[in-house]
Amino acid sequence: MAGLRPTRQRVALAEILFGGAHRHVSAEELLAEANSAKVNVSLATIYNTLHQFRAAGLLREVAVDASRSYFDTDTSDHHHFYLEDEQRVIDIPASAIVIQNLPEPPTGMMVTHVDVVVRVRKGQ
Ligand SMILES: [Zn+2]
Repeated sequence: MAGLRPTRQRVALAEILFGGAHRHVSAEELLAEANSAKVNVSLATIYNTLHQFRAAGLLREVAVDASRSYFDTDTSDHHHFYLEDEQRVIDIPASAIVIQNLPEPPTGMMVTHVDVVVRVRKGQ
């Protein structure tokens, strides 16, 4: 698994994360799913594992604010709506947003990607 030692907990969490369709999950949601699948794991281990999977390129982190991140099993280029009322993230296809007039990156640097999070809530 991408250079990570396949501990029993990692394998169990990988099965929960990658066993179905692409999705976005918070650490707390993954902990609840692990508990209901009888995987005995702490929130600290969940965080460590999510960040290890992200560092290995298996997950993409979508930070909606300083205290809340979602982990996306789809690492391809795309953007997100953040549904504030539901505290949920859904995809926006990369082709739906045109990014223009990006500033030149600082000397010696290149742009790796641009993440757009469009925050929405119920209302007119
Ligand atoms: Zn996504």
